[in-house]
Amino acid sequence: MARIFCIANQKGGVGKTTTAVNLAAGIASHGQRVLLVDLDPQGNGTMGSGIDKRALTATVYQVLLGMADVWTARQHAEHGGYDVLGANRELAGAEIDLVDLDHRETRLKDALAAVNDQYEFILIDCPPSLSLLTLNGLCAAHGVIIPMQCEYFALEGLADLVNTIQRVAAHLNPDLRIIGLLRVMFDSRMTLQLQVSEQLVTKFGDKVFETIIPRNVRLAEAPSYGLPGVVYDRSSKGAQAYVSFGAEMIRRVHALERDA
Ligand code: ATP
Ligand code: MG
Repeated sequence: MARIFCIANQKGGVGKTTTAVNLAAGIASHGQRVLLVDLDPQGNGTMGSGIDKRALTATVYQVLLGMADVWTARQHAEHGGYDVLGANRELAGAEIDLVDLDHRETRLKDALAAVNDQYEFILIDCPPSLSLLTLNGLCAAHGVIIPMQCEYFALEGLADLVNTIQRVAAHLNPDLRIIGLLRVMFDSRMTLQLQVSEQLVTKFGDKVFETIIPRNVRLAEAPSYGLPGVVYDRSSKGAQAYVSFGAEMIRRVHALERDA
């Protein structure tokens, strides 16, 4: 049985895709079988895994609409060592196409059931919205990882996301929980970031991951080579942080399962 996690934050450009791709590669490097689901029409997770989104004939879009199966649509990210259910612009139409379909919130969950026993981890990279696509991600998942930058408005946006997660847990997916908040693009020279980081720990306690991902240019360069940062330059500070985060995630998941 795969453990399924969403990487979500409705704010744009906060490091969701960077986290999803590097966590996928990080966990895969520990010998675990991983599927990355790109649930964003921008297709950044697909391209950042070295897969040309324009060349795909079947993506998560066809899977959501019941026109393809996960095992025919998935690709292998050779360098990252994980599989990818890709996305491209076509997925933008899903919001409208899904509206009239039955079980429109649980289409991804139902489709992933077919490959559940083939992976230890399934990671879902959500788009920057609280849309029907994100809802499909949240309904399919056991937990949510929330990457965030320690900036002034970060906590405000977080309240909306936490509300949404609680509503989904109450009505659609009782398994859903917040696994943790991940501080990303962190610059410890900035007083404001240190202050927001402290506030976050005060408010959310051990829901805040210990690992902090620093701002690191190697992580930003990696996608243009179609490589996860942890593969592109494993010795860089950013890559090292994501490797530590992968280990922390595995520890945290095992602890949750022990407590369950
Ligand atoms: P969107 O909401 O558009 O999907 P996102 O939340 O997925 O965005 P990313 O695409 O991961 O965010 O990151 C936004 C930009 O910041 C990218 O150019 C990425 O390369 C860069 N970036 C992400 N994390 C870091 C980091 N730790 N250090 C430096 N640059 C980073
Ligand atoms: Mg993204």
